[in-house]
Amino acid sequence: MAVRRPIPVNEPKLDGRESEYLLKCITSGWISSEGPFVGDFERLFSSYVGGQYGTAVCNGTAALETALFALGIQSGDEIIMPSFTIISCAVAALRLGAKPVFVDINRETWNMDTSQVESKVTSKTKAIMPVHIFGHPVDMDPLFDIADAYKLKIIEDAAEAHGAQYLSKTNTHTWLKCGAMGDVACFSFYANKIITTGEGGMVVTNDPAIAKRAASYRNLCFKPERRFYHTELCYNFRMTNLQAAVGLAQLERIEEFIAIKRSLGEYYRDKLSRVPGIRFQVEKPYAKCVYWMYAIEIDEATELTADLVLQRLGQYGIGARPFFMGLHAQPILQELGVTTGEHFPHTDKAYKQGLYLPSGLTLTRTQIDVVSEAMQEIMANN
Ligand SMILES: *Cc1c(COP(=O)(O)O)cnc(C)c1O
Repeated sequence: MAVRRPIPVNEPKLDGRESEYLLKCITSGWISSEGPFVGDFERLFSSYVGGQYGTAVCNGTAALETALFALGIQSGDEIIMPSFTIISCAVAALRLGAKPVFVDINRETWNMDTSQVESKVTSKTKAIMPVHIFGHPVDMDPLFDIADAYKLKIIEDAAEAHGAQYLSKTNTHTWLKCGAMGDVACFSFYANKIITTGEGGMVVTNDPAIAKRAASYRNLCFKPERRFYHTELCYNFRMTNLQAAVGLAQLERIEEFIAIKRSLGEYYRDKLSRVPGIRFQVEKPYAKCVYWMYAIEIDEATELTADLVLQRLGQYGIGARPFFMGLHAQPILQELGVTTGEHFPHTDKAYKQGLYLPSGLTLTRTQIDVVSEAMQEIMANN
């Protein structure tokens, strides 16, 4: 096996105006959340998405909790979400005393199976939380119908889907950006997301009342008219000016980043479609995927599991990561009695057979060639 420079699973691209804007923070002394870049970043990012109001917070998990609080979610409420997602989604609900209710995923997109949602609606259901997995939009039209019929709110988790688009048939028949389709949407700007602030997040909405409650929750629920007087429990989830400085520089290049992601995603697909036993996320006709991560599923018939393939990729110096373990199977959620022995076979299978390959913005086609050859050897020598 030839010795090569390891290929990392992700690297951010920070060669725009990031250092220039950061230097401005330092020289001006504006480093806290009071600095001017925070408001600029909120305005420009929310308008990019197609929302009127943005509330910047310290990470995507905090954005989810803030959004649920802003929607008025409280103790005893139920929120329908996919089992196949990060624990942040369940935690946001649980912290407010609400109960996450899970559905399985669609085999082709790994997104929430929208046909299972209606059967989970009860008198306690208040919201549906679609998660646009790996940058592929959820099929939203069925959710719009269910939300209408049962008067539910939609909270989009668009942490992996900056700039991804969905073609809605029931809603205007135009391409809508992920984050512009729910009552409220959440983004993450963690270092491996499409654009990054290191750590960071944002709540985006068109509803001024939701935006106001989000801003309040983020900032200790201070009363505008009476500071240091509190009638609700709160957090300090503020984003710093330093983070917003990086975010602004990243946002200037978001179209370029998405073009890179799409082009590398298509190149991966072209290369790996020649390797038997590998399946990709299917890009549906209603979707413009941003390929946040180049995710694959290993055919069970090969008798290889994601674990084994990850180990072998590691021997080649190739960084890769496993899929999410279903929330229904998380020990802490079982212990808390959130799950009730239901089965989510597609989620379990994706967890067992799925992984994602190096996916950073600095990845080159030559590196993808190396990864594809490694996958070819791993699959053939099985
Ligand atoms: C990354 C991510 C989050 C959480 O964002 P953090 O900034 O890491 O807290 C939430 N949901 C999904 C789907 C994510 O991928």
